[in-house]
Amino acid sequence: MELQFLGGASEIGSLGLVVRDQGRTILFDYGITPSDPPSYPRPLPSTIDAAFISHAHLDHTGMSPIVSRLPKTRIVATAVTTAVTDLLARDNLKVARLEGYLPPYTSDDIQTLRSRFTETDPGGSVRHHGIEVDVAPAGHIPGAAMFRYRGAKDLIFSGDVLLQATHLVPAAEPPKGDVLVMESTYAGREHPDRKVTEREFREKVAETVARGGQAIVPAFAVGRAQEVLLALQGTGHDIWLDGMAKKVNSIYLNHPRYLADSRRFRRAVESVHTVASSEERRHAAREGEVIITTGGMLDGGPVLTYIAEHYKDPRSSILLTGFQVDGSNGRQLIDQGTITVDGVTIRPECEVLKFDFSAHAGHSDLIRIVRDTGAKTLVLMHGDQREALADALRGELDVVLPENGHRFEV
Ligand SMILES: [Zn+2]
Repeated sequence: MELQFLGGASEIGSLGLVVRDQGRTILFDYGITPSDPPSYPRPLPSTIDAAFISHAHLDHTGMSPIVSRLPKTRIVATAVTTAVTDLLARDNLKVARLEGYLPPYTSDDIQTLRSRFTETDPGGSVRHHGIEVDVAPAGHIPGAAMFRYRGAKDLIFSGDVLLQATHLVPAAEPPKGDVLVMESTYAGREHPDRKVTEREFREKVAETVARGGQAIVPAFAVGRAQEVLLALQGTGHDIWLDGMAKKVNSIYLNHPRYLADSRRFRRAVESVHTVASSEERRHAAREGEVIITTGGMLDGGPVLTYIAEHYKDPRSSILLTGFQVDGSNGRQLIDQGTITVDGVTIRPECEVLKFDFSAHAGHSDLIRIVRDTGAKTLVLMHGDQREALADALRGELDVVLPENGHRFEV
């Protein structure tokens, strides 16, 4: 069985894995790196018998419309992943137009993509052109799947995985297999206790509101905004939700079986105000106690409106809830205390804090996943500190640290 990463082997972004086995060519994920401008994985082979998309984050699914250019390739994903992929692809075209770079695909490609999806469910199996793949829940975000390809060997592709259940999604259930291709975002790092993080987060929000400020909570639209919404459920604050998360909420509510508790999620969504117009945004910016909004890394989106209104107010706070990539405004804010908007650098005087709401397994949970699968070979991907995990596991099984483009046998 031959493997080749088109991207995402030793970095977080632009993931794509080609597996060649018994005359078949299979693709797992095809994503972008949402930098400004974005970067893309290597080109696809000329034929792919079937493609499997683990979940609807841009680094895993952002290039799906390109896959639909191959004649007849079916693209397998859960129903919620197909719906959010469509939303992200259309939003990407809009962002490309606004930022002035050439998008990698057209709206016609997105149209074709819709007709190429084959929907599946965690717990199910897919057979297509003699290819048999089992689907297992990956935790992480609604609809996220791990795949087990039954070929010359049983190969598991983890996508992004979280062993612990969250407010939003049930825990991952890793399948058994011979070869495990696993993400390693948090190799060498552990997360703080989630309950403690959430308590501190709620306390900081309450403190901000009590002193008359606004708590601005930048959050990624797909998964994070919803988890934060649930973490704030029942606090009684005047909460406003802005940005693409509103559309993602509707998709999640239309696919309740992917949620840990769909009734609870519906109550949480109904208990907050959603910003539906620029007038409402102005009102929310002035009057809202808590704002949950995109962009999660402060590089664009409605969050900048709220920051512009409150950055001089020491009673207010910016409470980051996600990974801040190097070069982003969020990273600059943490490291240097400034953000740059339209070439102008400002130094917010409000409080700035970061909370770890990560939906990726930490180091020891990654080791647990490896052991639970019973794999004899581990291929580490989707991480920039893979050695930490490789060092911890080398005595137990074969560990491969592939580089992009390199073809290797397992
Ligand atoms: Zn993800």
